[in-house]
Amino acid sequence: MRNKPELTFDTIKRMEDMTWFTHAQIFDDLLIVAQKETVCYVWKTSTGLVVIDGIWPDERVYQEILSAIHNAGWEKERITKFVMTHGHIDHVGCGKWLKDNHRVKTFLSETDDILRLSTLSEEGRSDCWKDFEIDCYIGDGDVIECGDKSISVISTPGHTAGCMSFIFPVHDNGEKHMASIFGGTTAPWGDENGKELQKKSVLKFMKASLDNHCDVTLTNHTVFDNGLERISYSRSRLSYLPNIYVIGEKGVQ
Ligand SMILES: [Zn+2]
Repeated sequence: MRNKPELTFDTIKRMEDMTWFTHAQIFDDLLIVAQKETVCYVWKTSTGLVVIDGIWPDERVYQEILSAIHNAGWEKERITKFVMTHGHIDHVGCGKWLKDNHRVKTFLSETDDILRLSTLSEEGRSDCWKDFEIDCYIGDGDVIECGDKSISVISTPGHTAGCMSFIFPVHDNGEKHMASIFGGTTAPWGDENGKELQKKSVLKFMKASLDNHCDVTLTNHTVFDNGLERISYSRSRLSYLPNIYVIGEKGVQ
């Protein structure tokens, strides 16, 4: 058993691999969509489907999100919002298709929108992750209203200066749980100030998770939570078996 996730150059390279995807319904109202390393979520609310993060800028990501929605039997629901934790290419990815095809309302911090738009192009990478507008700049303490539910926004700078983390309710066989997702899983590499900021943000988010009685924690990178194994379990889980994402308030801490 390892105490730390194994994060290597290969891990980073695999974030660009768009040849393999998987998805699962992990709660009554939450789907997870993943490629090998990066994950996004689709959350069902009374005001439509909310996509949380958007993986890589590749149409195959968007198609996989649609497949997940179809397999959950949610195809009659409209996709109405796209909420992003931070402005990196592997989380903003498929926003263009969500915007063009579904006219979603988009949410990101202003600081990270500036980061997104000012990131230099790289050869062999699509730049279309900059080709859509942010409708609503989010900040600490904001609440994104989604009809019967809402997302609490907590500013957690470090990984990026405008990184946001979220707390929102999910349901398992009708029972309510509170989920937390920390937006930027790693401290910025080679940046001591950023590292200190990240530590403060982790403590702040632990407190927010405690105050909100979070008993589910989600991540946007599979390397940190045995993500692919958890998805695999969830794909064939029988309803009377435990939900592998419900780890209790202590577990979240
Ligand atoms: Zn990032």
